Amino acid sequence: LLGADGSVRPTIFAEMSALAARTGAINLGQGFPDEDGPAAVLDAAVAAIRAGENQYPPGMGIADLRLAVAEHQKRFYGLDLDPDREVLITAGATEAIAATLLALLEPGDEVVTFEPYYDEYGAVIALAGGVHRTVPLEPPAFRPDLDRLRETVTDRTRAILVNTPHNPTGTVLDRETLTTVVELAERHDAVIITDSVYEHLTFGPEHIPLESLPGARERTIAISSGGKTFNTTGWKVGWLTAPPELVTAVLAVKQFLTYVNGAPFQPAIAAGLRLPDAYFTGIADALAHKRDVLSAGLSAAGFGVFPSDGTYFVVADAAPLGFPEGVELCRRLPELAGVVAVPLGAFSRGEYAARTASLVRFAFCKRMEVLEEAARRLAALA
Ligand code: PMP
Ligand code: GLN
Repeated sequence: LLGADGSVRPTIFAEMSALAARTGAINLGQGFPDEDGPAAVLDAAVAAIRAGENQYPPGMGIADLRLAVAEHQKRFYGLDLDPDREVLITAGATEAIAATLLALLEPGDEVVTFEPYYDEYGAVIALAGGVHRTVPLEPPAFRPDLDRLRETVTDRTRAILVNTPHNPTGTVLDRETLTTVVELAERHDAVIITDSVYEHLTFGPEHIPLESLPGARERTIAISSGGKTFNTTGWKVGWLTAPPELVTAVLAVKQFLTYVNGAPFQPAIAAGLRLPDAYFTGIADALAHKRDVLSAGLSAAGFGVFPSDGTYFVVADAAPLGFPEGVELCRRLPELAGVVAVPLGAFSRGEYAARTASLVRFAFCKRMEVLEEAARRLAALA
């Protein structure tokens, strides 16, 4: 995690946001919205601060947010959860992922993820002394080869960590893939961890919560967060749902990571989770339109553009523009076009990274006028 000179190496997201700030370029690198979410959610946080909800909340999270998470899982996925034993509030999905992996892994235990993968997975598996095995998602559709998955999951596998909708590719994993994950986890007695922070941001294919599949519930730690759904990425309110004994195991670690966080933001996220269905479909519709505008701009600029069915992100190929290395394009993009993006290499390693070196991720979770301006600037590349 340290650079060659012994300093802390910033994540690619921090590095690219700093590059955008330094150059004044439009930041389509780090995935965060540039507008506030619903007023009802913001007002609830302000009200909670004014009402004095500013001290440590309970270790499991405030009861009303745990209840709101359980209600949300019932409303959208038909799942019945005990809010007192099967829901744990965390400091974002980031902490839920870290505490889960630290709780489950003994040195040498293997964790299987798809590749590319959210950078935190690799870092925390390494911190826990685990071994990270990956199954590639092949462009253009970024679907896994299920036989490859069957070969990779073995009795050494402690956990299979599945992110859908998928950052960075925008893929929404289908039922066959998720069912295969469950079968393999059962066969090899592995825990399943799901990262569904983009669960409401799909543009066609529906998000399937893996824990709703037969046989999955009793071995799944399902993770999500309020950041993407309510445009509150800086609040860091996340959660996980799991059988009581798995919640207890994760809580044992979590209490020594942050202990608790976000007292006044917890009731606000509870208010968000109780917004009417129209809110949730509305955000996906608005985002689908933004994806279309940015994807069209990237195509017009000469990129090869891959389809994105969900998340904040679209992957584009810089090779047709004469950049076989996406890293090189990302370094030069502020100067060439006044835009910042993230190379796909930040989410992969070794042979896969080499094979996909020309791919770059762009975020479209920005105001429409910002995306239109980015498209105009990118046209300079053509
Ligand atoms: N998982 C994925 C796939 C993400 O993209 C992100 C954040 N961008 C996180 C987890 C972290 O979520 P949070 O901000 O709630 O910690
Ligand atoms: N998840 C966001 C992204 O992929 C931001 C993550 C971060 O800054 N750690 O861009």
